[in-house]
Amino acid sequence: MSEQKLPVTRREFLVRFCAAAAAAPFLTSFGSANHGRAAIAPSDSREFASECPDADLTAEQVKTREGLQYVDASPHKDKQCKGCRLYKVPEEKDAVCGGCQVVPGPIHPNGYCIAWAAAG
Ligand code: SF4
Repeated sequence: MSEQKLPVTRREFLVRFCAAAAAAPFLTSFGSANHGRAAIAPSDSREFASECPDADLTAEQVKTREGLQYVDASPHKDKQCKGCRLYKVPEEKDAVCGGCQVVPGPIHPNGYCIAWAAAG
């Protein structure tokens, strides 16, 4: 009588299951960590950087601005600076660029950064 061999032994199944379970958190965090970045290509920030330039900022302020991946034109239809609770409207009546509580420098109302938080 020949013994029927299962395609995967219990031991192999447990090894594979444990390996998948151990890898899952890394795969999940990798995906979420890159979610915002994947939507903002470096070329995008340079394309729209001229309307609210960071010319008068210190190196530290520019670093903060870049670290939060600020761009003048949001890649998200429903997430723009003007809808963010941290946005400060321009003080001058005809000015385009406002400000932000966390990102230094002029901020475009249609901009975006990874610190975006819904207003209201
Ligand atoms: Fe814009 Fe980011 Fe400031 Fe919100 S936190 S207003 S998204 S720059």
